Amino acid sequence: MKRENYISWDEYFMGVANLSALRSKDEITQVGACIVNDRKHIVGIGYNGFPVGCNDDTFPWEKDGKWLETKYPYVVHAEANAILNASVDLKGSTLYVTLFPCNECAKLIIQSGIKEVVYLRDKYNGQEIFIASRKMFKAAGIKLRQLEKYSLRIDQEWKNSLQNIKDIS
Ligand SMILES: [Zn+2]
Repeated sequence: MKRENYISWDEYFMGVANLSALRSKDEITQVGACIVNDRKHIVGIGYNGFPVGCNDDTFPWEKDGKWLETKYPYVVHAEANAILNASVDLKGSTLYVTLFPCNECAKLIIQSGIKEVVYLRDKYNGQEIFIASRKMFKAAGIKLRQLEKYSLRIDQEWKNSLQNIKDIS
């Protein structure tokens, strides 16, 4: 008999994005992204972090203060890292991301040929940065789709699978 409560593709790829987010050193906002091609292969993955060589212990993760002493000039967003880490042409692919993309990432997403953005949280909706990203996505014909009621089910699946691992060992 086939197992019935397996996770969907959306839950699977957003799960990978969520897992990537756990790698982030940012205390406030952990974001993960996962790019999937039309054959359902993962072709890029990323989370928000500093560029290679920019040490997490010397560069600031602060949100407030003088600009040069905050994270903003230095951090590479999850979507940008996923695009830069990609091993293949991203034309026609789908980006899964745990937070709706900012305007800078929207530009990269559009230019890389990604055709759909699937996201979870949208906590900055209404702020100008995100109005700008929506405006560009609309103009470029990028499909936007929000996953709802997602994390609880994954958490449960995750706990179950950890339990299974414990049971086996
Ligand atoms: Zn961004």
